[in-house]
Amino acid sequence: MNINSFLHWVIDQALGGNNIDAWELQDKAAECGLLKPVVATEACGEHCYCQTLEKMSGFTFPINCYKKTEWSKE
Ligand SMILES: [Zn+2]
Repeated sequence: MNINSFLHWVIDQALGGNNIDAWELQDKAAECGLLKPVVATEACGEHCYCQTLEKMSGFTFPINCYKKTEWSKE
């Protein structure tokens, strides 16, 4: 897990005037170990990343869904 890399990336995007969308954020968070991709064979729940992908983007299950790691849980 590398929170510093994640934070630096977020700050760099902001300083560069880049709009970050939720998908980019999740990908970067996963790359830094803050979220963990798991293969979902059906929707994990309402408003879940995988369900949104299926509904909005036409993906079909199985879909990589991001889950919080121990670090990012409240
Ligand atoms: Zn899901």
